[in-house]
Amino acid sequence: MGDRGKGTGAVYLVGAGPGDPGLLTVRARELLAQCDAVVFDALVNPAILSGSAIPDEAERHFVGKRGGESSARQEEIEALLVRLARDGKRVVRLKGGDPFVFGRGSEEAQVLAEAGIPFEVVPGVTAGVAAPAYAGIPVTHRAVATSVTFITGHEDPSKGESGTDWSALARTGGTLVLYMGVRRLPEIVNALAEGGMSLDTPAAMVEWGTFPRQRTLTATLGTLVDAARREKISAPSITIIGDVVALRDEIRWFDERPLFGRRIIVTRARAQASQLAERLTTLGADVIEAPAIRIEPLDPAALRTALGSLGDYGWAIFTSRNAVEITWSELHALGLDTRAFAGTKLVAVGPSTAAALTERGIVADLIPERFVAEGVVDVLRRRSDIRGARVLYPRAEGARDVIADELAKLGAMVLAIPIYRSVPDPAGVHAAREALEGGTVDVVTFTSSSTVRFFVESIGIDAARRATIVSMGPITSETARTLGLEVAAEAREATIDALVDAVVETRR
Ligand code: SAH
Repeated sequence: MGDRGKGTGAVYLVGAGPGDPGLLTVRARELLAQCDAVVFDALVNPAILSGSAIPDEAERHFVGKRGGESSARQEEIEALLVRLARDGKRVVRLKGGDPFVFGRGSEEAQVLAEAGIPFEVVPGVTAGVAAPAYAGIPVTHRAVATSVTFITGHEDPSKGESGTDWSALARTGGTLVLYMGVRRLPEIVNALAEGGMSLDTPAAMVEWGTFPRQRTLTATLGTLVDAARREKISAPSITIIGDVVALRDEIRWFDERPLFGRRIIVTRARAQASQLAERLTTLGADVIEAPAIRIEPLDPAALRTALGSLGDYGWAIFTSRNAVEITWSELHALGLDTRAFAGTKLVAVGPSTAAALTERGIVADLIPERFVAEGVVDVLRRRSDIRGARVLYPRAEGARDVIADELAKLGAMVLAIPIYRSVPDPAGVHAAREALEGGTVDVVTFTSSSTVRFFVESIGIDAARRATIVSMGPITSETARTLGLEVAAEAREATIDALVDAVVETRR
């Protein structure tokens, strides 16, 4: 991207939101996807930076600073933005929450304006609204609070150095939302009490708001300081003072979801992990994706030959989503599409494979009752048109021979073509190993024997034993036990939903 002419660069002052990557705006995502450089702070969730949101080749500059650091540091950041833009780069200046709410984004805008560098501001979801919302506390509520004030708690009220009129704030009758207030909390509470605010006023602190590790403490103005000390509340935290805090009892939601606060490792081939991870995240889990294996397509020559003469095949069998995906990509490579299967009946081993077919415009003719190879044989055994039929069976290398052997006995001519293999992905399990060794993992999920094997191989049996194991089915469980793991729960059928249910049930 360095070939863009000098002088055409720009800086985008972008809010990253409070933490939950889902709270990134659409505009922020667009700009991240196209940028040449990102300059980011300590409060930006690493999940936003490590995901696929940013091009691999984009420069990443961490300029994290915590409260209290000298403004010289701020000047360095501003100089960096100017330099990158003058180099012709599209620079995203990514800041926690909203860039113009206690974020010094406006100071950076002043510098850019003065330097004549084009810039754009992309507002973000600010922590002072989002952290309370995720704690079930609305910052306004009809007849309870008709105004809200955002305050920085950075300055010491007792020194009279701050520009904040605490006694006026004590009398607004609305909600007070305090950023950066952990260290100075005692002085702030005193200043509000002296200004006439009742010590019975409800108050709350939300630490790491919108993150899976969010903690919420509720108290009153009078008890807040002691409670925060007892619970060791630390930064980043938002403090909310006002009657709206009482609404949490009624409308809290985020920290009441069935898997809230639970750390779960999802081991699956990279391409497939996200569906399971997404479901668990929705239920409140802190998910670490640990792709233990990677799918590697094999030489497609045999598959292409078969796809070129699909008319010869009465049946095709798919036993995984991977097989469907690779088959269709080869079909497209041949200049063909789904219509090539018009004369062929299709079997999908289970709902997830069937869904992969539906996405390509095909409704599977048969789905067995049991979502395993034996189930496929059972449903085909009942078909009169299997004898003498040619059956195409694109599958994983090293898969069990049950389908090919049993269908041959029924008089079918099965062409089993290995089209992909699973290979270990040691890099994928790095974060999982760290979390397991730190003892912070509750559950590890396994969806196939190969993921169990590769996971244990790359992180070691001792680390693997430190969490509760949940498996997709009897064959996966058996492999896990053989390797020395104890399986706590098993999905009642081989589907993502059933696996998620099994995870939820381990809590009880
Ligand atoms: N521009 C940011 C605020 C930066 S000041 C925004 O609009 O949100 C940093 C302060 O923001 C922290 O000290 C803390 O008070 C608050 N904060 C940021 N992220 C937070 C989070 N996830 N949970 C609670 N407070 C948060």
